[in-house]
Amino acid sequence: MYMDLGAQGHRGSKEHRGSKGQGRQGAVRRESYATSLSNLQSAICNLQSEIGRPPYRPTVLPLNILPMRQRFGLGYDAHTFGADRPLKLGGVEIDHTTGLTGHSDGDAVTHALIDALLGAAAMGDIGQLFPDTDPRWKGADSMKMLAEVKRRLTAASYFVFNVDITVVTEKPKIAPHAPAIREKLAVVLGVSVDAVSIKAKTNEKMDTVGRGKGLMVYAIASLGGA
Ligand code: MG
Repeated sequence: MYMDLGAQGHRGSKEHRGSKGQGRQGAVRRESYATSLSNLQSAICNLQSEIGRPPYRPTVLPLNILPMRQRFGLGYDAHTFGADRPLKLGGVEIDHTTGLTGHSDGDAVTHALIDALLGAAAMGDIGQLFPDTDPRWKGADSMKMLAEVKRRLTAASYFVFNVDITVVTEKPKIAPHAPAIREKLAVVLGVSVDAVSIKAKTNEKMDTVGRGKGLMVYAIASLGGA
């Protein structure tokens, strides 16, 4: 049984409670699951209206997937500084003396996150989906790549539980920009802001990153799905 939670909300979960062949315990778990997702989608709607985004379009999720498979993926990316363009991380432009090199817009945060999501779903990696030899992706907005990855995950009945990202760089300071980055990523991923974490470290002046030549990003993503 598939149900559009955003359109039906709790009404749908009551319908499901009465379906054939379902034990009381399983029905209660499904109702709890549906209620949690419905609440989550309401929170996203509220967030998006606050930041002036178009209304969230709910995803059709399967309700017969319990027990769900929870999966994890790890992503990593590194870019050097020196590009003559704005520094962009997680879709947010950050005031800095230089941007990051790279075939697209050099958004290493989004690239690491994409690889974490693809890894969790065993769907390959960013280089396979968006080859740096393809002129279509030259200077491309990495948030559009992230949106395409989210579309593929949804099509495969995966949804995002949460993501956690660590940026390693001497400069600039990431913490002041973390709230904006979390909001940008949450909207594209269709999750609430508290499901997106951004942390930052320096490399204690060690090695190339420590000398300020570049920046590294690690990301982990947790998915649920059929
Ligand atoms: Mg990259």
